[in-house]
Amino acid sequence: MSKPILLSPPHMGDRELEFVKQAFDTNWIAPIGPHVDAFEQEFCQIIGADHAAAVSSGTAAIHLALQLIGVESGDEVFCSTLTFAATANPIIYQRAKPVFIDSDHTSWNMNPELLQSALEHRARIGKLPKAVIVVHLYGQSADIDPILQVCNQYGVPLIEDAAESLGATYKGQHPGTFGCIGIYSFNGNKIITTSGGGMLVSNNADLVAKARFLATQARDRAPHYQHSEIGYNYRLSNVLAGIGRGQLCVLSERVAARQRNFEIYASSLGNLPGIEFMPEPDFGRASRWLTCLTIDPEAFGADREQVRNCLSAQQIEARPVWKPLHLQPVFSACEYIGGAVAEDLFRRGLCLPSGSNLTNEDLERVISAIAAVHYGNEKSQTPLFVI
Ligand SMILES: *Cc1c(COP(=O)(O)O)cnc(C)c1O
Repeated sequence: MSKPILLSPPHMGDRELEFVKQAFDTNWIAPIGPHVDAFEQEFCQIIGADHAAAVSSGTAAIHLALQLIGVESGDEVFCSTLTFAATANPIIYQRAKPVFIDSDHTSWNMNPELLQSALEHRARIGKLPKAVIVVHLYGQSADIDPILQVCNQYGVPLIEDAAESLGATYKGQHPGTFGCIGIYSFNGNKIITTSGGGMLVSNNADLVAKARFLATQARDRAPHYQHSEIGYNYRLSNVLAGIGRGQLCVLSERVAARQRNFEIYASSLGNLPGIEFMPEPDFGRASRWLTCLTIDPEAFGADREQVRNCLSAQQIEARPVWKPLHLQPVFSACEYIGGAVAEDLFRRGLCLPSGSNLTNEDLERVISAIAAVHYGNEKSQTPLFVI
């Protein structure tokens, strides 16, 4: 039996244990502590944000962002449809209503023109949403400038879900630092991980201070545990922040390794008929958190599920592109704005194993397994593994 190749496993560096040991040696096992402060500062330096609050997950960060903006029962929040459910679940936690927006073909992210016409229409009828959540999918920034411009024009705050896109750039700047609030995730499958964790960033110091307050049970300044607001237990532990500090030391290497995976996949498989890789618009650089492609079944000779099942039979984990949220049973009553771009990407899209710890042998196994589906038994035609 060959060794399993996973989609995106954790990849520890050399220093995580040292930071964790410091936490043990000083008995800072409690939540919050010096590693949390340092993790926030180091994170801000790397991505170029002014303020950050480390929290227990990316989902918690999105929930806090909605609270900070004042999203309440009955409000509407516009949200990318092609994403993981965690982007939209906190809208429901607030008893607000998601309105999902389709992707464009060039970035796979929220279509700025659809957003613009939707906001224009909503302004005309006096029914603007309370916020917009734009997702930067699979390591690729959305086209932020026109999205931010139209949000500013109508005074609607922009939340950026950059959970999958730490290490990407948009016009030289990091996605997650453009809008009112940005969020990141350090879940086990993300480009760096604290085993579980997240970050909320903003250039508004008051918002981040309020996020910390809400994430720490909303305790008023009093010795006797007084509360004037409902809070949450959302802060990151000092032990896990130690892992995060170690992971930040190797972030640029992790990005380079994932971009290299993409280059190898694309140069080895890019010429097969019916295969198209996720495009990279010239406004930025994708981190290639996951290498994603679409398969045209007629040209390729097999559809996405056939390919995925062949890989799975060889212990290779590949996943369909996110099922759009407007197609999810739990969101079926929500309004949807757009056409069939996200639906088409879901039907034909596949995410390949993309870990920063993949070996050349792993990559070769994935590539020849996919090529074999196309070529069948015509072994002589199997393309060379290109590095
Ligand atoms: C992973 C992810 C999240 C949630 O992050 P957690 O840390 O797992 O809560 C949110 N949005 C997107 C797009 C994600 O991929």
